[in-house]
Amino acid sequence: MKPWPSKIPFLDVGAAYTELKSEIDEAIHRVLDSHMYVLGPEVKNFEHEFADYVLANHCVGVANGLEALRLALRSVGVSKGDEVIIPSHTFIATWLAVTQCGAQIVPVEPEIVGFNIDPSLVEAAITDRTKAIVVVHLYGQPAQLGKILEIGKKYRIPIVEDAAQAHGAEYKNRKIGSHSDAVAWSFYPSKNLGAFGDAGAVTTNRIEVADQIRVEANYGSRVKYEHTVLGTNSRLDPIQAAVLRVKLQVLDEWNERRENIARIYSQKLKLNSVVLPSWVKDRRSVWHLYVVQVNGRDEIRDQLDKAGIETGIHYPVPPQSQLSYRDQFGQMRLERSADLSRNVLSLPIGPHLTEAMAEAVVDVLGHILADKPSFEAGDQG
Ligand SMILES: *Cc1c(COP(=O)(O)O)cnc(C)c1O
Repeated sequence: MKPWPSKIPFLDVGAAYTELKSEIDEAIHRVLDSHMYVLGPEVKNFEHEFADYVLANHCVGVANGLEALRLALRSVGVSKGDEVIIPSHTFIATWLAVTQCGAQIVPVEPEIVGFNIDPSLVEAAITDRTKAIVVVHLYGQPAQLGKILEIGKKYRIPIVEDAAQAHGAEYKNRKIGSHSDAVAWSFYPSKNLGAFGDAGAVTTNRIEVADQIRVEANYGSRVKYEHTVLGTNSRLDPIQAAVLRVKLQVLDEWNERRENIARIYSQKLKLNSVVLPSWVKDRRSVWHLYVVQVNGRDEIRDQLDKAGIETGIHYPVPPQSQLSYRDQFGQMRLERSADLSRNVLSLPIGPHLTEAMAEAVVDVLGHILADKPSFEAGDQG
């Protein structure tokens, strides 16, 4: 085996600051010097720049990704007593956003090859009460959006996208950001476009959607001290907006670095005992995560850890089995997501992971997996 750096972090978020230190410092000081600490020009400018980047007509900055989802759902009319179809296999925020609207979650299982909602299972989940379908572009790879949009059109059900892991991803050569009624973004620090704190946004081509979110996120107010709806305080912080403006300029380049790491893994980890993520022409991933599936995941993870390679699990416990949702969903048969929670392993990836580090991961993991029996997507781990 070749020598490798002593410790390989799963993701080094601090390296983003180190690389862009002077630009970021300048941007933050610009906000401090402006004496405008809520909303103002930084937020406006970021909203315009991000809308342009994702090819949407409108962008509304909000406090975080969960709020982006919740406000997006409300903006398409989701409220108490409605049902919302969402993927069973996702981060808990997707579920919580529906619950917070007072609506009922209707979980739908992921594709057998791939991780996103299986469009062939969606129609059977629709009822008279279905008010929205949420698509999550998990791990950076777009879902089968075309099929979901068709179903939405056929049944006149709005579609909301959770794009928290998909900044810059493309569906049929068009960036995620305006295919559906409303697209929710998180700029949590570890995301492909990450702030240095909490931040989020919704993009849309529908002006009434943007308008409702903007008003609701600012105390239900269009004009100061006039409160037309029961709103909340969920605004994008201008310091984070200023940081995001700097990082938006390097997003494509940093996504390319991620893709380069993903290519190394995909070309060099070809073993029967591991299922690699797929590369699909019409669904271009931005490799937020590089997720493999293996049998005996926890043991393999331990061995990697002992070799100084930090990995992640996205996610170890599916939402339906969490204490917070177990009473309601624990008995539901959601086997694919349960299997995935046992088998998935996220390898180190990020804009600051070097090729040498990726090669080292390949070496060590290849070694660990060499004598393991073959394993296929859909196998129970
Ligand atoms: C990160 C994330 C969210 C939530 O974003 P926050 O900014 O942490 O609230 C929602 N959905 C998915 C898929 C995410 O990865």
